[in-house]
Amino acid sequence: MATGKINVSADNIFPIIKKFLYSDQEIFLRELISNAVDATNKIKTLANLGEYKGELGDLTIQVVLDKKKKQIKIVDRGIGMSKDDVQKYINDVAFSGAEEFVKKYEGKLDKGSMIGHFGLGFYSSFMVSNKVEINTSSWKDAEDGAHWSCDGSPEFKLVKLKRKDRGTEIILNISEDSTDFLEEFKIRELLKKYARFMSVPIQFGEKELEIDTSKEGEEPKLEKSMVPDIINEDDPAWTKSPSELKDEDYNKFYKALYPTTFEDPLFHIHLNVDYPFDLTGILFFPRIKPNMELQKNKIQLYQSQVFVTDNVEGIVPEFLTLLHGVIDSKDIPLNVSRSYLQADSNVKKISGHISKKVSDKLEEMFKKNRKDFEEKWKDIQVIVEYGMVTEEKFYERALKFNLFKSVIDDKHYTMDEYLEKVSALQTDKDGTKVILYTSNKEAQHSYCEKAKAEGYDVILLESPIAGHSIQKHETSQEKIRFARVDSDLLDKLIPKGDDRTSILTDSEKDKLKETIEKTLDDKKYSIRMEALGSDDVPMLITIPEFMRRMKEMSATGGGGFMGMGDFPETYDLVINVNHPLSGKILKAKGAKKDEIINHAKDLALLKQNLLQGEALTTFINKAMNKL
Ligand code: ADP
Repeated sequence: MATGKINVSADNIFPIIKKFLYSDQEIFLRELISNAVDATNKIKTLANLGEYKGELGDLTIQVVLDKKKKQIKIVDRGIGMSKDDVQKYINDVAFSGAEEFVKKYEGKLDKGSMIGHFGLGFYSSFMVSNKVEINTSSWKDAEDGAHWSCDGSPEFKLVKLKRKDRGTEIILNISEDSTDFLEEFKIRELLKKYARFMSVPIQFGEKELEIDTSKEGEEPKLEKSMVPDIINEDDPAWTKSPSELKDEDYNKFYKALYPTTFEDPLFHIHLNVDYPFDLTGILFFPRIKPNMELQKNKIQLYQSQVFVTDNVEGIVPEFLTLLHGVIDSKDIPLNVSRSYLQADSNVKKISGHISKKVSDKLEEMFKKNRKDFEEKWKDIQVIVEYGMVTEEKFYERALKFNLFKSVIDDKHYTMDEYLEKVSALQTDKDGTKVILYTSNKEAQHSYCEKAKAEGYDVILLESPIAGHSIQKHETSQEKIRFARVDSDLLDKLIPKGDDRTSILTDSEKDKLKETIEKTLDDKKYSIRMEALGSDDVPMLITIPEFMRRMKEMSATGGGGFMGMGDFPETYDLVINVNHPLSGKILKAKGAKKDEIINHAKDLALLKQNLLQGEALTTFINKAMNKL
């Protein structure tokens, strides 16, 4: 029997490894199964290449839970290891990784989750075991096998072992403080999480499965088990070619990923790239209503069908974290911390690439079937807008399919089409094109009607981030400006340099202003005198575009307005000096004068949907009394 001492300076590295990885203990199972999957895929490759000439046989990986013996076994029929292999891969290479890890991070206990980086996969089993054993034999010669065991001290045991068949059996003797992992539901949960889509069938059962694990010279040990079941789907949809799949297949896969979601996705994007890096996956566009609560972390990240994380922030472009689905890349490092993952150059390239793929797909859909795209538009608008405000490149690409919907003719327009449509009438005296919009066509109905009467168009911008996207358009495009239809008089929103003359003199205007201010006596209103048509309204409430936009943007965050606190509620009260009522106010006295002013002001508030609560009740009662 050969014993040896693992060459490491620290007396006992396992307590340190344990401490580092405490929060991520459960990954031991992922690591061991990944190793088994790798070994199995290798034997398949060798068989394909004709280097392995024996029978492949059943390649199912077995995970066996033996509560009585307090053991978990992972058994594969992959390439296995000879005694020399074990010395090389388990003792020398893997352990030097462990040693490096400990040296680098000793004393820095906050720098966890870097194990994969040091090739520590196998040793993660010591997080939950007080003793780990390996029985293995090489594909080259089953007679050339080994039994290895180690109890967590640097001492290990390595002896020759002749087995009947190739492959590896890893036996974990679960330690007292990790008995959670001896529960069937726990292992099932972990297998579901990490191994659900692994590329080799994996079977899970309690106690011994019907496999011969006897050593040379012993009687065959064949124990019956409870009926084991295959826990994974080894060829999930994203690994297939898009041409093999129908919409139903995608929807079925979607349902399998999100069993609690009732609705089918809107559409999907099948990612399938092998150059300049490897990337596969399926992204689903869910139906997102403008005011729906946005749900992130629905995308799962895999590396070669091994689950890595469902926190894809920094890996998938921010605006696409609203999508659902799966991304898989061989180039994503396993076992590294989030900050490391985000800084990884491959990961960065992947993020840029996904963004490009999504814009390509949307453009293609738009070009191929515009009508269908327009129907889907309200469900994808938020994502597109979000992308446009957060990613410059996406902004430029999305200009081709980002749509404005007119509330006047109910049609959709791209930016170019829209500017073309409105440029004749909606260009102001400085040559700036003014895009009028409404955030709520019911509430701002009269303003939209007024605009329509003038021959202007109005688009609907109702998403929660409309303020940000307006800002983005205004800074990225030359000479365009957005104005909410109720933010001022149309003549002011699109000034054309032909102001109407006032029929009141300047001193009459001053007096009128003073009178109204005195009657209302409310700082909320900033009173402005304007010369409008005599058939226009006598008074009008407008909410200045700038103030309102600041307020909205601070509410949705970002844009540098975060934490500016509440903006005071102030309105512009525009007085039409050319309306006969203005002359009437100037002539009226006392209570009569106050009544006219208040009534006209209430009507203006009502028009903006701002007359509410007690003020509305009083107004209605007064109107009833007049009947
Ligand atoms: P990594 O998988 O990152 O290389 P590990 O510590 O998990 O690091 O494993 C070290 C090496 O041991 C592997 O690269 C492989 O050569 C060998 N090995 C581990 N498990 C198996 C197995 N089930 N079958 C064959 N070889 C294995």
